[in-house]
Amino acid sequence: MEFEQQVEKVEARIRKACDRSGRPRTDVRVVAVTKYVSVERAKQALQHGYSHLGENRWPDAREKLEEISDAATWHFIGHLQTKKAKHVVGKFQYIHSLDRLSLAEEIEKRAKALDLTVPCFVQFNVSGEPSKYGLPPEDADTFVEQMNSLPHIRIIGLMAMAPHEEDAQRTRPVFAQLRQLRDQLNQKQIYHTRFHELSMGMSNDFEVAIEEGATIIRLGSVLVGNDG
Ligand SMILES: *Cc1c(COP(=O)(O)O)cnc(C)c1O
Repeated sequence: MEFEQQVEKVEARIRKACDRSGRPRTDVRVVAVTKYVSVERAKQALQHGYSHLGENRWPDAREKLEEISDAATWHFIGHLQTKKAKHVVGKFQYIHSLDRLSLAEEIEKRAKALDLTVPCFVQFNVSGEPSKYGLPPEDADTFVEQMNSLPHIRIIGLMAMAPHEEDAQRTRPVFAQLRQLRDQLNQKQIYHTRFHELSMGMSNDFEVAIEEGATIIRLGSVLVGNDG
């Protein structure tokens, strides 16, 4: 019951942000981030129509993946160590944290062995905080160009995390820059096909991200909670 109310509140905020920016609600997909919560809570999210679930560490995700498996579409959203890619490819349908060539080559190798293509987001560190993962935006052209030669990876968009701000409005430039980066890469035709997705916005800043063009928001605490 409590969860139902939480869902209603968040959905109302999403709708309003969509309205403010003249976008249909169907433009924005929610990935329910279940990394803090139990398998039961993840199943509850599924029952409420959140069929896309996100996890950021393989060991923590394992139990949920085994229990829920293909009842959900799984997104790997956290930093991915190269040696862990073998656990992730084939189990998660999307990888949001592609941020270096060595990781791309490992994903390529694993995907090829399984005869599948992995849709990926290139993660950027737009704010330049040293503590954040992601490519510097200056490296975008070179990196995305390199992805052309890895046929088992398909770049479908870009991903970024904004710094935590008390005032979410201050995250706006980060999201706007990621959108511009996507548009520039497409305009220059660096990649062999256009890509559209922007994975940006979390509990603290999803409304601003929607206003700046997010197509995927990753919601943990505000939606499913963070207390197990
Ligand atoms: C944990 C996490 C989220 C969700 O965080 P909340 O602030 O709880 O919504 C989103 N994206 C990534 C990459 C995360 O690690």
